Amino acid sequence: MDQVNIEAPRQADLAAGFVQSSYAELPDRFYQRADLSPVRAPKLIRLNRQLAEDLNLDIGFLESEGGIAVLAGNASVKNVQPLALAYAGHQFGNFVPQLGDGRALLIGEAIDRGGKRRDIQLKGSGRTRFSRGGDGRAALGPVLREYVVSEAMAALGIPTTRALAAVSTGEMVFREGAVPGAIFTRVAASHLRIGTFQYFAARGDHEALKALADYAIERHYSEAAAAETPYLALLENVVAAQARLVARWMLVGFIHGVMNTDNMSISGETIDYGPCAFMDSYHPGTVFSSIDAGGRYAYANQPRIAVWNLARLAEAMLPLLAASEDEAVALAEAVLKKFQATYDGVFHKGLRRKLGLSAEHPEDLPLAAGLLEVMSANEADFTLVFRGLGDDFAAVPGEGGTRKLFKRPEEFDGWAVRWKERLAREPEFDVGRQEMMRSVNPKYIPRNHRVEEVIRAAVDRSDFSPFEELLSVLARPFDEQPAHSAYVDPPKPEERVLETFCGT
Ligand code: AMP
Ligand code: MG
Repeated sequence: MDQVNIEAPRQADLAAGFVQSSYAELPDRFYQRADLSPVRAPKLIRLNRQLAEDLNLDIGFLESEGGIAVLAGNASVKNVQPLALAYAGHQFGNFVPQLGDGRALLIGEAIDRGGKRRDIQLKGSGRTRFSRGGDGRAALGPVLREYVVSEAMAALGIPTTRALAAVSTGEMVFREGAVPGAIFTRVAASHLRIGTFQYFAARGDHEALKALADYAIERHYSEAAAAETPYLALLENVVAAQARLVARWMLVGFIHGVMNTDNMSISGETIDYGPCAFMDSYHPGTVFSSIDAGGRYAYANQPRIAVWNLARLAEAMLPLLAASEDEAVALAEAVLKKFQATYDGVFHKGLRRKLGLSAEHPEDLPLAAGLLEVMSANEADFTLVFRGLGDDFAAVPGEGGTRKLFKRPEEFDGWAVRWKERLAREPEFDVGRQEMMRSVNPKYIPRNHRVEEVIRAAVDRSDFSPFEELLSVLARPFDEQPAHSAYVDPPKPEERVLETFCGT
């Protein structure tokens, strides 16, 4: 085997806009002050310049050799200690008291243009105290998947971690065979998870729980500090943020795939993209993840699972909520009950807008449910049907392009008659309506077969041009992009991807 000559980790001469992680001010047991594990030949695949600019980071530096060394975990930023964070979590319903950053490192924070603190984290940066049997690395394919899907979510306006950079390592990692390694740099409002609270609750460490809750309030929900019961207000805010988030997922057909409690963030951002995917043809039971045999995290289960996860957060927070456990449980239950109303508020309003309805009528939800039923029975494409409604809402039933998306178009026609009747009861503003529908019904989503195509080109042929092109198309999901119409199409039968794999 070749003698690999890897430079010892160094410290970059520049801070380049990075600042020390505020998390480092929490007690030692919250993290490991981790050493870097340099890689052999890092090369920049892509820097998200727009995001770097929004974060006030030095683009010139990040694209230089020194900056690439930072993005590869070969150098730390000046005066910033890399941290691997401790957390626990329920994985597929089973509690694991210690997970933690087994292949990730928090390499600092940036203060963005809005004055908000954002975490910068490497994924695939090598082993840490939390690695258990893992190699601490990431494969190129999952890195590109997370890059594409998280940026697509951001362009759709859905709260999410962001992709700052992807770097190839010049090393292979061993999964089902040898595959090229890569390191992903992601940006998050923070990396606090439900599992972070569970980590300290499982250890009976109330002091740490309190410090964590105070940190979460200060960082994400500062208004909770002024509430009569700040920790209850924190829980209430997290419940509301996740209810809004999952409703937004449901409205675009996004399936997270691994909604374990360690993969659900306190800030309410989508985090930890693994075997995630967007639905093509609509079916509520859709599952892509290769490790989700029971369908626990199927599309239609996501709201229920979010409540289950939040109940685990509430349990972990009980000691903070009231002196007596009975009282704490009663308070927590009352807060958890509010999930449904918040979720319904966002989901129902979103459905109405997707159908082009601005007023509220009792028949709206049955109308929406009726469409979903016909879509499911006819294997119609979720994204194209809603987009199509906006394109031909002026068409008479029996005409227009949308009906062709259904195996038995007459079933759609039957529904469209009801929809037209309902539209007739809207206050008139038909010109604005089409635009409104187009602004909520995307034309371009990261279709799974396209993501796979991008990964194949990069992994098999070191060709990153499909990756670049897909990213540029997905940056404008609501716009008509005639030059890229091929990206609109659902997969042909032979292109269909039925399974997605975790990033491990
Ligand atoms: P994930 O499935 O990415 O949410 O990860 C679940 C847990 O497994 C986390 O604690 C990760 O840090 C850890 N993990 C995943 N992949 C690896 C790896 N290749 N090496 C070490 N730890 C890993
Ligand atoms: Mg995770």
